[in-house]
Amino acid sequence: MASPDYSDGCMIALYPPPDVAAALAVKDGLPADELHVTVAYCGDAADIDGDAIREVVAELAERQPITAHIAGHARFTGGEKDVIVALVDSADLEDLRRDTLDALHARGIQPPRDHGFTAHCTITYLDPDEPSPLDRLDGQSVEFTALSAVHGTERTDTPLEHPMAAPAREAFAAGWALSGGPMTERVKAASTAAMHTAIECADDPHILEVTIDLGKLEGMWALLFQRREEKQAEHTRLVAEAWRPLIDRAAVADMVDRFRSHAGLSEAARDFLTEALAAARAMLHALADLTGWTAVRTAIRNAIAAGNAEGMVNAVAIAAERASVVGLDWNIAFKDAYESLARLDELWGNADGWLGRMLDRATADLGRALAEAAEEGASREEMIEAAMDVLGSTDVEAVAFTVDWAMTTAADDGALRLYRAEGVRQIDVITAGDGRVCAICADYEVGSPWNTLDVPRLPTHPYCRCCYAAAVSMANFAAWFV
Ligand SMILES: [Zn+2]
Repeated sequence: MASPDYSDGCMIALYPPPDVAAALAVKDGLPADELHVTVAYCGDAADIDGDAIREVVAELAERQPITAHIAGHARFTGGEKDVIVALVDSADLEDLRRDTLDALHARGIQPPRDHGFTAHCTITYLDPDEPSPLDRLDGQSVEFTALSAVHGTERTDTPLEHPMAAPAREAFAAGWALSGGPMTERVKAASTAAMHTAIECADDPHILEVTIDLGKLEGMWALLFQRREEKQAEHTRLVAEAWRPLIDRAAVADMVDRFRSHAGLSEAARDFLTEALAAARAMLHALADLTGWTAVRTAIRNAIAAGNAEGMVNAVAIAAERASVVGLDWNIAFKDAYESLARLDELWGNADGWLGRMLDRATADLGRALAEAAEEGASREEMIEAAMDVLGSTDVEAVAFTVDWAMTTAADDGALRLYRAEGVRQIDVITAGDGRVCAICADYEVGSPWNTLDVPRLPTHPYCRCCYAAAVSMANFAAWFV
């Protein structure tokens, strides 16, 4: 190999992760596992105590992993060989370089000063007249998770971790465990965020208590979302089970025949949607006259009641968390809240409103499916199959969408009604932070707290899991706590 031999040298360095190194390596250049960013070249290994270098590294590694940006490449010239390098840009790396020099000086080690510091990763050495193997190096971010002491051919890696990281992780986990909530992606992300906050506030003597509380709060949210998902899934299934017997294959075939006779299928390149929607509407709106319709109506009414009750329990759970009151029995609370709704006549009116939307959505889905089938020249049988897919499959989209929307609305209504009944003056909007958050929800969260009388209505978008949160006296809910 034509590369200079540094195996007698001694340095403190960062090695990129193997995938990044493999992507940077070029033919006839340095092997991927030797690619590194020198933080400080310390001189000849023979002159320097390896233990001293390793001690310096152990001390310096008490910091967070270093994120840097590979910002293209450069060709260093003027030496015996030219050097192709990746340029590595990071403010944290500059801090590390400064701290490294300080730590070395403190041990009487003076790194040679024949170069300034241009953070780079050498990729290959070339003769001055040799063409570069690289035209362009794409920018990318790279995370260095360990700091390495290299003494001659001996390399010792020490993971980069702030001394607050492990205690903060444990504090958050302890809080989460107290909540009884499930471990979710959201909880994991919150744990990482809490750890970063704890590192930033490492001097605050109460930071670990705060971190325990954050873990408890996230666990409570996880439990709340898990229950909501379970309830929504359960009631979606119940409504779908009441809906499916109404979808009669013979009626669907009639509807397809009516559409086919009206649509003038022989004329090419027509817009079939109007006729398709008319046929779909006629068939679906006739469902409300069937005996089985009462079962659908009851199922959606129960879904709304469950949504209301869950929203009330959620509101109290959030308030209890704020007041550091523990021991909420979610099942007792839900049962109690659900029973308090048993005589609410308005639930039937709400049910009819949601059923109207469900039929409209099913009409739109069915109309679109028929029109597409007609455009593709589908046969009568194929159209019947397409219609049965939309209406009678195990997961009818119009049912799932409507039940979710109805239950979410009911949950938000339930929470709001409870807060108002308890005389709450100010209400926060909390985004679910689960990737489904729309800009409107985020704005409402920023605008918190809201006056109870003009707090914006949730949900703002389909599958919204954003919530109201407020402080409530627990006195009226003693029966919900064990
Ligand atoms: Zn939302």
